[in-house]
Amino acid sequence: MTAIPLLPTPKERDAQAARRSMLDLSREELTAFMAELGQPAFRARQIWDWIYKRYAVTFEEMTNLPRELRTRLADAAVISPLTVITETLSLDRDTQKVLFQLPDGETIETVLMLYDKRRTLCISSQVGCAMGCTFCATAQGGLARNLTAGEIVAQVLYFARYLNDPDQPPHTGIQRPARVTNIVLMGMGEPMHNYNSVWTALRRLTDPDAFGLGARHITLSTVGLVPMIDRMAHEGLQIGLAVSLHAPNDELRTQLVPVNKGYGVDDVLDAVDRYTNETGRRVTFEYALMRGINDSPELARELADKLAPRLCHVNLIPLNPIPDSPFQPASDADTAAFVQILREAGVSATVRLRRGIEINAGCGQLRQAEQTKSEE
Ligand code: SF4
Repeated sequence: MTAIPLLPTPKERDAQAARRSMLDLSREELTAFMAELGQPAFRARQIWDWIYKRYAVTFEEMTNLPRELRTRLADAAVISPLTVITETLSLDRDTQKVLFQLPDGETIETVLMLYDKRRTLCISSQVGCAMGCTFCATAQGGLARNLTAGEIVAQVLYFARYLNDPDQPPHTGIQRPARVTNIVLMGMGEPMHNYNSVWTALRRLTDPDAFGLGARHITLSTVGLVPMIDRMAHEGLQIGLAVSLHAPNDELRTQLVPVNKGYGVDDVLDAVDRYTNETGRRVTFEYALMRGINDSPELARELADKLAPRLCHVNLIPLNPIPDSPFQPASDADTAAFVQILREAGVSATVRLRRGIEINAGCGQLRQAEQTKSEE
C-alpha cells in the first residue's frame, strides 16, 4: 500500500471547496463561466477538450490557453475534486483500488480491474449508503452524502489519465491497457438513490463530445428501487441494468436487503419486466452467495422458478468477506451446485471472478479499514 503523505489541510480544503468545480459544469455552464471571465466561447471548447479528451488535471497543462488565463482559472476553479489517499494493487496485479478524499474531507473508493480485453472501473455514487444491506461494509457507516455529478465523473477521468500515461508502471502479465473500456456503478452507494447526479454523470460519460464511452459498456447496479427502475426505462440510453437480488423470497431478502420491506421480490421482478418490455434489454441479477445463508439447492430451485421465464442473466458472486462478519463466502462446491441448478432450469448464469480479495476490494471495505485505522 502506498500512502500519499501530503493531504490538503482543512484550510486548503476550504479554499478548494470555494473554487468553481469544473467537472460539475455542463458545456453551457462552462461557456457562461468563460463569459464571466470576459473570454470568448471557443475557450470553453478548448478547456472542455483538455478535460474530457486529454484528461488534464491542471490548467497549466492547457498550453493553448493564454498564460494569464491559466493563472486566473487556477485561482478561480478546480478540475478534479479528488485527492488520492491510498492506492493498493492486488497480489496478482490485476486489481487496483484507490481511496480518494473529497473537498469536504469525506472519502470514496474506486476500483480498476484489468481483464484480457477490458479495463473495467467500479465507481462510487455516494459517500456511504443508506440501504443498510446487512452483509455490506459500506452500509455500516450509513449515508454521509450524495456525490455530485463531477465527483462521479472525476473517478473515471482519474483512471483514464492513469491508463493513458505511458510512464505508469506496466501491470505484470497483462498487455499495457490504454483506456477505460467498461464502467460499473457497483462501488459505494445506491446509484438510484442519487438519481439526478448519476444520470448527469452518465450523460457526460457517454456524450461523444465529452468522455464518449458507449452506453452499452456501462452497467448500473441497484438493490431494486422500483420507481427509479421505471424511470431508467425511459432514459433512452443503453446503459445496462443489474439488480442485486441475493435471495428469491421476501422473508430471506428482507433480512439481507432491508429495502425489500418497501419493494419486495415480486415488485422488483415486475419492474424488471416493465424495463425489459420497454427497452428490449436483458437484465442481470446479482446474487452474492453467502455460506449457509442463501446458497442452498432449495433456494437455487426457488430462484430458478422465478427467473426461468424472464430475459435475464444471473451473476453469482462469492461474497468478499468483511473481517469479523458472520457473512462468509459460499464454498466452491455449493457455488458449483447452485449454478448448475440454475442452468439446468434454463437460466443463464455465471460465477463472477472475485477480484482483489486481499486488498479489501468489496465496496466500502477499504474506506472502512482506513476509518478503523484512524480510530485506533
Ligand atoms: S450492497 Fe450496495 S446498496 Fe447495499 S448497502 Fe452496500 S453499497 Fe448500499
